[in-house]
Amino acid sequence: MSISNKHRPTTAELRALDAAHHLHPFTDHAALGAKGVRVIDRAEGVYLWDSEGKRLLDGMAGLWCVNVGYGRERLAQVAFETMRDLPYYNTFFQTTHAPAVELAAKIREVTPEGMELVFFACSGSEANDSMVKFVRYFWNLQGRPEKKIMISRNSGYHGVTLAAASLSGLTPMHPQFDLPLPGFEKVDAPYWFRDGGDLSPEEFGLKAAASLETKILELGAGNVAAFVAEPIQGAGGVIIPPATYWPEIQRICDKHDVLLVADEVICGFGRTGNWFGCDTFGIRPDIMTMAKGMSSGYQPISAVVLGGRVAAAIGGADEELSHGFTYSGHPVTAAVALENIRIIEEEDLVTRVREDIGPYLQQGLQSLADHPLIGEVRGIGLLGALELVADKATRSRFPADRSVGMICRDHCFGNGLVMRAVGDTMVVSPPLTISREEVDELVRLARTAFDLTARDLGVSA
Ligand code: PMP
Repeated sequence: MSISNKHRPTTAELRALDAAHHLHPFTDHAALGAKGVRVIDRAEGVYLWDSEGKRLLDGMAGLWCVNVGYGRERLAQVAFETMRDLPYYNTFFQTTHAPAVELAAKIREVTPEGMELVFFACSGSEANDSMVKFVRYFWNLQGRPEKKIMISRNSGYHGVTLAAASLSGLTPMHPQFDLPLPGFEKVDAPYWFRDGGDLSPEEFGLKAAASLETKILELGAGNVAAFVAEPIQGAGGVIIPPATYWPEIQRICDKHDVLLVADEVICGFGRTGNWFGCDTFGIRPDIMTMAKGMSSGYQPISAVVLGGRVAAAIGGADEELSHGFTYSGHPVTAAVALENIRIIEEEDLVTRVREDIGPYLQQGLQSLADHPLIGEVRGIGLLGALELVADKATRSRFPADRSVGMICRDHCFGNGLVMRAVGDTMVVSPPLTISREEVDELVRLARTAFDLTARDLGVSA
């Protein structure tokens, strides 16, 4: 049912109501008040339209999540039918329903060998909070209650709830809320472009991994519960680890009996050209968390998947699991996620990303490497990052107070392209369905935005 035009609020009315009543996530409200909020009206394929009719190519798939693209009737239909037949029932107290069961089985099918048990939540943050509790419970069941410290990385992002924000290594997320909680430690990110200095990427990958072993030894392996990491750090700036990094991390976790948790919230469901980032990097995780592409953002759903000895211990515990959400495995969210995964399978989107459109996007992004502002282009599958620099040879950035990334992002928007700025790193993560023509358009619009940014900075492009 659509709202009749007569009752449809105007953009000006929406802006006024928004300014009066809506507290936005990750937004500077003073700055927003001065500028006026952008109202998004509708979406189709890889495009968004704002309330003034302007079309935007969504180079970010929303917040890295709309893997199958916008406007899928099938997903709307499944949501409608499920809502009609079973709008709600829970999965507590020895009850289940087909959407939750079928989705759990499907997730088991697409995750790496050894992953066994699926727990549902509604967001990446809830999945990561649940994961921290499962890690604690696992070590308690093992009779090793002193193994409690969680290690994660600088520049990592794992969500905003108390534990997930404590795992996150983006420092602005902490001081407003007296975080991190005790027992959450950080190690280096494998961010060669920023921190690699004179080392080769391979040498630097080993150095970044070594910071985990140093931290484990400092804390005592007997006190360390788990290492939590995104296969590729997304919100930190699409930080792709050198090839030496993950094998060394795996070795360190195995050696010190530290659980390895892969946060697949961005990498999962095809983004890197395999079902999961773990497949791309050969990681053998004990636990995986996932969200976003699991339903392509059409419904809020996430999962924690337990493998091997963690699944055996928690699944086999002779007592009630005292954890769960009202909406764990909600039938509508589960049915939509299942249909979304079927679309990914039927359209073979994972192979498409690996063999066709992923390499095509990477080639397109590489063609921007000649731009005077671009110090590095990196990417894998349909994830990409372009580093804006003052000096290409030394990889030095512009002074932070010039907000070059924000200038560039505003030019992208002005130009009809959604690209995200992480500091001065421009990142892209389009729907997996993006066509070659749309990739060409994305690259063309990005170049225009870089040219306009260079003009503003007085750099000749
Ligand atoms: N983990 C990762 C890797 C993420 O990128 C995100 C969201 N960007 C989260 C967790 C948190 O997910 P949510 O916003 O759904 O809580």
